[in-house]
Amino acid sequence: MAVILDGKSLAQKIKDQLKQEVEEYIKKGLRKPALAVILVGNDPASEVYVRNKRESCSYVGINSLFFHLSEDTTQEELLELIGKLNGDEDVDGILVQLPLPSHISTSEIIDAINPKKDVDGFHPINIGKLATGQDDGIIPCTPLGIWIMLKHYKIDILKKDVVIVGASNIVGKPMSLLFLKNEDSTVTICHRNTKDLAKHTKNAEILIVAVGKPNLITADMVKEGVVVIDVGINRLENGKLVGDTDFENIKEKASAITPVPGGVGPMTVASLLINTISIYRQKMGFSKHPLTEV
Ligand code: NAD
Repeated sequence: MAVILDGKSLAQKIKDQLKQEVEEYIKKGLRKPALAVILVGNDPASEVYVRNKRESCSYVGINSLFFHLSEDTTQEELLELIGKLNGDEDVDGILVQLPLPSHISTSEIIDAINPKKDVDGFHPINIGKLATGQDDGIIPCTPLGIWIMLKHYKIDILKKDVVIVGASNIVGKPMSLLFLKNEDSTVTICHRNTKDLAKHTKNAEILIVAVGKPNLITADMVKEGVVVIDVGINRLENGKLVGDTDFENIKEKASAITPVPGGVGPMTVASLLINTISIYRQKMGFSKHPLTEV
């Protein structure tokens, strides 16, 4: 039976530590860290994500400034707001909740965020720093959360065969860069055009799945003892939330596995807080946050 990698409790532990840390800054007479959160439109899932993120900010003492813009906001209006926030000394991080309405170019919006305030770590400069092994960039939240979880559970990654299913800019690709950063693991990335998915997944000692398709990975596609990190979030017709893997059957074969919900999701939110506080720390003349060290 697999160890269940409990992202929910670990994230709570991290939030409690961060809360104490922020209290120390306030005692020293410093201002609160501040995160600007921009939501365009009324996508129900995005509204839930934003609410979660803001509640977590409030719990640890991060001031979250919420900009809820209407669906018909133009790209120019959004760029103008980002420009203002880029120039505001009291704003540490800027988060634009994705997806954006189709009339707005996501890449142009990400490019407009000051890379030093890019808490999501999506800006090409931050991705480039990760790709070239420079330590002063910001790491995207989901890969960072997974990294922290692997370290916490003492999962050895050295010389391991890691297979990542899903090659998005926000999860799959930056995740692969983390494993490559110190040449720890051998990484294979699979995507929609991978010829024989099972051939690759069967080889994985660590399997990371970020696709968005329930039951994509079944027990016959993994080997005994694999560590499975399920990033997927899928809402079934009956309202149940599931990941991309057949959790019930794979847990009998794996050595460790993340549940959905309660695995990667809470760690992603914890990493957003870590990144915000890390940016704040550097502005206040401290080192970057130790939890961002990879
Ligand atoms: P995306 O849609 O941007 O990318 C999906 C990737 O899956 C693509 O690379 C695509 O080629 C690949 N893919 C599609 N079908 C495939 C198949 N049959 N076999 C192999 N690969 C296939 O997705 P994303 O934004 O990276 O999100 C992926 C999933 O992770 C979604 O369910 C999303 O909700 C979830 N997610 C969760 C968190 C979290 O914190 N838990 C964070 C981000 C995303």
